[in-house]
Amino acid sequence: MQKECINYKNCPLVINPAFAPDQQRDYYMRVYCLGGKANWTKCKRYMTKVDYFFCPDFVMPDTSGTTDEIIDKYEEGFL
Ligand code: SF4
Repeated sequence: MQKECINYKNCPLVINPAFAPDQQRDYYMRVYCLGGKANWTKCKRYMTKVDYFFCPDFVMPDTSGTTDEIIDKYEEGFL
């Protein structure tokens, strides 16, 4: 099983240390990004990218709601 998320090399959470507070980012990286396929496929950033081919920066791996709700929220920001 692939340990590393398929988005690992390009994901802002991974490549930008300021994307989330250190402790929170470390937790996400350990549990989701490097946690094996069973875990990174549950990441809301991964799921949003699968459904919409991109993921807004406010989304974290454990952000609540469906990917549809996330995109609705994203679009509200442009109204
Ligand atoms: S698990 Fe989520 S946060 Fe981590 S690299 Fe993949 S898409 Fe990005």
